[in-house]
Amino acid sequence: MAGAAGGRGCRMIRGAQIRDVLDAAHNVLFDCDGVIWNGEAAVAGAPEVVRLLKRRGKRVFFVTNNCTRPRENYVQKFSRLGFTDVAEEEIFSSAYCSAAYLRDVAKVQGKVFVIGCPGVLKELQDAGVPVAEQGDEGPDVSVYNLPLDPDVKAVLVGYDERFTFMKLATACGYLRDAECLFLATDPDPWHPLRGGRITPGSGSLTAALETASSRKATVIGKPSRFMFECISSQFDLDPARSLMVGDRLETDVLFGANCGLATMLTLTGVSTLEDAHELQQSESPEKKDCVPDYVVESIADFLQALEE
Ligand SMILES: [Mg+2]
Repeated sequence: MAGAAGGRGCRMIRGAQIRDVLDAAHNVLFDCDGVIWNGEAAVAGAPEVVRLLKRRGKRVFFVTNNCTRPRENYVQKFSRLGFTDVAEEEIFSSAYCSAAYLRDVAKVQGKVFVIGCPGVLKELQDAGVPVAEQGDEGPDVSVYNLPLDPDVKAVLVGYDERFTFMKLATACGYLRDAECLFLATDPDPWHPLRGGRITPGSGSLTAALETASSRKATVIGKPSRFMFECISSQFDLDPARSLMVGDRLETDVLFGANCGLATMLTLTGVSTLEDAHELQQSESPEKKDCVPDYVVESIADFLQALEE
């Protein structure tokens, strides 16, 4: 695509320039939080943008590191926020892709110990991947007698609001076995909440376990390539005709760069234009890969280009 050929320009575009970018893309991949919606409010115009892209024959996918919901709940959320034409098959969350990785790539023969949330557990269940019991955390259980299930062959870390020292210790116990796989749903350090608050993300819990186990997790979510491979395995995407739209430079934009896609930053979420310019000045190749080809204020800016 034009952007990829012309280098990572961090070019603020509107109107006809957006139309040119969309004309070159057959597949449009959207991050969700900060792009499509913020919390329980759709970004203004986003439902219409998705509808018009599809009407123009584009294939639209939603690629999210948020592992807290199973795909069926995402469909409900899309519908609740006014997106009437989003199908479960178009939604690729880090929870869904982690389950697919364990089943199809790692072909894990045994149980998975999960530090996570109901969204992760439901996707593992739907994929037929057995999950180890969490175990008793009663007063008699300590680091000296933590029960370990000999059938556990993988540890998966995601977002867990009930994270405890005993879960960390149990996961460490499993990871003492070098054959035990160590996966993380996503690397996100934190997530914005309403009122300027934040919540720690999966990445912070993974960091605790990496430190304690002296091992590195295989990360499934963006910026790792696996989520694109997961979509490609089902829909046969041409990277050269695909556009990744996200609000976070170090995950969404780097993911796009890692997969050979054109990349677009939208300013309705976490990263700012100043952040992008700062990375552009960097000497580090990895930081330069976080610089988007294009920048828009909001995906609502697509409307003018799509309606003409
Ligand atoms: Mg986001």
